[in-house]
Amino acid sequence: MSELCLYNTLSRSKERFEPLDGKVARVYSCGPTVYAQQHLGNLRAYLFADLLKRALRFSGFEVRHVINITDVGHLTDDADLGEDKMELAARKEGLSAWDIADKWTQVFKRDLEKLNVLPPDVWCKATEHIPEQIEMVATLEQKGLTYRIDDGVYFDTSKDPHYGELARLNLKAQQVQERIEGAAAKRSPVDFALWKLSPKDDTRRQMEWDSPWGRGFPGWHLECSAMSSKYLGAPFDIHTGGVDHVPVHHTNEIAQAENALEVRPWVRFWMHGAWLMFEEGKMAKSKGTGMTLDQVEGRGIDPLAYRLFVLGAHYRQQMSFTDEALERAQTAYSRLVRHALELELAQDSAGVSQVPGFRKRFREVINDDLNAPQALAVLWEVVRSRQLGGVEKRTLLHEFDEVLGLGLAEARIAAPELNARIEDLIRQREEARRARDFAASDRIREELEAEGIILEDTVEGTRWRRA
Ligand SMILES: [Zn+2]
Repeated sequence: MSELCLYNTLSRSKERFEPLDGKVARVYSCGPTVYAQQHLGNLRAYLFADLLKRALRFSGFEVRHVINITDVGHLTDDADLGEDKMELAARKEGLSAWDIADKWTQVFKRDLEKLNVLPPDVWCKATEHIPEQIEMVATLEQKGLTYRIDDGVYFDTSKDPHYGELARLNLKAQQVQERIEGAAAKRSPVDFALWKLSPKDDTRRQMEWDSPWGRGFPGWHLECSAMSSKYLGAPFDIHTGGVDHVPVHHTNEIAQAENALEVRPWVRFWMHGAWLMFEEGKMAKSKGTGMTLDQVEGRGIDPLAYRLFVLGAHYRQQMSFTDEALERAQTAYSRLVRHALELELAQDSAGVSQVPGFRKRFREVINDDLNAPQALAVLWEVVRSRQLGGVEKRTLLHEFDEVLGLGLAEARIAAPELNARIEDLIRQREEARRARDFAASDRIREELEAEGIILEDTVEGTRWRRA
């Protein structure tokens, strides 16, 4: 049996994966900043994390998965400048920052559910882990790795000889380039805020807390270092995010955690998903070019068709979003669902000896750094095979869908046409029975039974199930 290999950004190569304890893979995924609905580009990152999680399970590992919710302290600029995105959105929408966070967290979770993304074991919010974050800053301060300036406490990157290794930063070149833009008072442009102090003027923040350094709020990177270690221990197995997290957010998470917790490497595998490109460039909310899942549904496209679209490219491969590509994915998805529904009722068996071969090929491509496009190719081969019988196809489809998550094995895809037809026959049968036409009633029952649908008469009416 082939073994699971994953691309590790740390080593820039594929490495064989096994959990640290041999059994449970501990995975942390950077979550969204909840000040608006996540656009399709953001959602791609969670589809990638979900594929990873399903592949880990497919390999026989248990998974403990944590996703955070950034509900405070993410400034409009990653380099500690600009305004807090939550406070900004609150002012724009005329709601409190807490209500904004709540509203968009619910929408995010609902979107993931529509995409058939398995929920994590732990959802954790930055605002509910302020003491843990303060403690980490205090630890770093005790170790002499921080300094204070007017607007907060900063991490002194010059004290960390390993700083920037994940991103392979050329710090000298970066300093020259960024000196112009960086906050003037920072000792180095790459130093970053651990704790930001609330402004001294009378503009009051809605979200602020007392700390040993004064009233304020945590730097964005801090929450992930503190919460991942709290729920997964340190070191842990896999940390996921978008490629855009490599140079700043993940680089800074590592600096904080490795120094505060004295463990290196703090995370064994760093995995990064590529961007979804939307016409002029990266799909980014700040540029107002993002499309949401609501908009996708508004066009009559099933969210799972978007999932199929995303699986059509390797997670490390940049994708271009176009309306045509999305519509093609919907056509393909409808076709796949139709096949799956037909196979639900299939009773013909053939080609049993070929089943292990398909199974092996599917496992091999998934184990090769989650090669979803090739896994889909194997799935289509099964569907179109002339050698396999319906029973064998159904078995393979259900197995593969454990990893692909297209809802093919579940009634969730709802078989709208099939359901409608069965409901219709049940109504006709009820009418026949009311008219005391028992021959007609029995005929309908037998007709459905022949298709593998069993009717059960209960006090609340007639229900059906698959045999
Ligand atoms: Zn993070």
